[in-house]
Amino acid sequence: MSISSLMKASKKIVIKIGTNTLSDSEGHVDKDYLEKLVQQIIILAKEGKQVVIVTSGARIAGVATLGKWKLKEDVHYKQALCAIGQVELMDAYRRVFNEHDIHIGQMLFTKEDFNDYSRTLNIRNTLFTLIDEGVIPIINENDTVSYEEIKIGDNDTLAAYTANLWNADVLILLSDIDGIYNKNPKEYDDAVLIEEISDVHEIDKIVKIGEASSFGTGGIHTKIEAAKLVNECGIPMILANGGKENIIINLLEGREKASLFSPKE
Ligand code: ADP
Repeated sequence: MSISSLMKASKKIVIKIGTNTLSDSEGHVDKDYLEKLVQQIIILAKEGKQVVIVTSGARIAGVATLGKWKLKEDVHYKQALCAIGQVELMDAYRRVFNEHDIHIGQMLFTKEDFNDYSRTLNIRNTLFTLIDEGVIPIINENDTVSYEEIKIGDNDTLAAYTANLWNADVLILLSDIDGIYNKNPKEYDDAVLIEEISDVHEIDKIVKIGEASSFGTGGIHTKIEAAKLVNECGIPMILANGGKENIIINLLEGREKASLFSPKE
């Protein structure tokens, strides 16, 4: 199936936005970018689709707000920066969505929440209620309580958990590259985009994994792991370039290329 026909057929869509996509070169939340994202989500909604957003960017938004802690590597400072940045991040989302009369709801999770049956049930119920009422859930990891053992670790995995929990029709990861390449496109000019991956477990044979970009956390590795998690539940995943103008609608209309990880038949 092509990405365009998959997206046309999908009603429940999880969109994950990476730090690099969301922040400008100084680490501030890119408000113009958010505005354009919201406009695309409104088009999806008009076509009867439901959207859940998983967003990164709290720490970098915290750094941008409080430049003086920039170099602190202490974990408590990192978590404190996330606490500050999360507010900045949600404030930016709220402003743009409210301008279009859409409400948002914040949901923050840790790994433990997904390992506990009653917590998972509560998450599901809240998620469904928000969506049924036309509110856009915006999800992030709860960084202030997440120490190493209970950390989900990266939002690619969190987005995959969310897609599985909601039983989404497709998970879209927006990053700063067009998709997965046979080698890191930032290091090699001749890297080739892989447009369809029909068995993610075989990907090691065709892909060489390189370094992640400056503000990013997981790199391409966590995107592959996310594909494994959702594909196992029969959900396809698209990895696309969130930095490209109108990317979601262009994917829907078949005007842009990306990588599609399809579940095995
Ligand atoms: P995000 O912040 O959007 O989650 P990351 O920066 O963590 O994204 O990861 C994406 C980066 O992974 C790309 O910008 C690219 O430099 C790097 N990368 C390494 N190897 C590959 C590869 N084989 N194909 C695509 N990207 C790769």
